Amino acid sequence: MPEPSVPFRILPELSDRNRHFWQGGEQGHLTILRCQECGYYLHPPTPTCPHDQSKDVAPEAVSGRATVASFTINHQAWIPGVEVPYLIAIVEIDEQPELRLTTNLVNCEAEDVHVGMPVQVLFEHHEDANGDVWIPLFEPTGGK
Ligand SMILES: [Zn+2]
Repeated sequence: MPEPSVPFRILPELSDRNRHFWQGGEQGHLTILRCQECGYYLHPPTPTCPHDQSKDVAPEAVSGRATVASFTINHQAWIPGVEVPYLIAIVEIDEQPELRLTTNLVNCEAEDVHVGMPVQVLFEHHEDANGDVWIPLFEPTGGK
């Protein structure tokens, strides 16, 4: 059973292509596939770099710092067990322009969120029979 403080989530299906992303949080790292030839980060993960067609790609930890690119407040209870409202955001990872993740913002009020707000990753651990998952969420850096 999950701890009561851990909200219900539909968990991703792990594959060899995405395992680094969903389990990097075990070490506290946001982990993104990166082209080993040109250094370009690939997300969502793809087997081939779009810049130079290199297949030499490997997961690498990034800083976990990002800025809010856009966000929306969800008031609709689409999924039973998920409390509303909650914040859905697209964040741009500091390491590379246009390197964007869709995520949830936590530890902040909706009225305090703005585009360009600096955020940092934190992880929500879910136990799962097919392999534990660490969901990357983001919270305001708060000047830390
Ligand atoms: Zn490349």
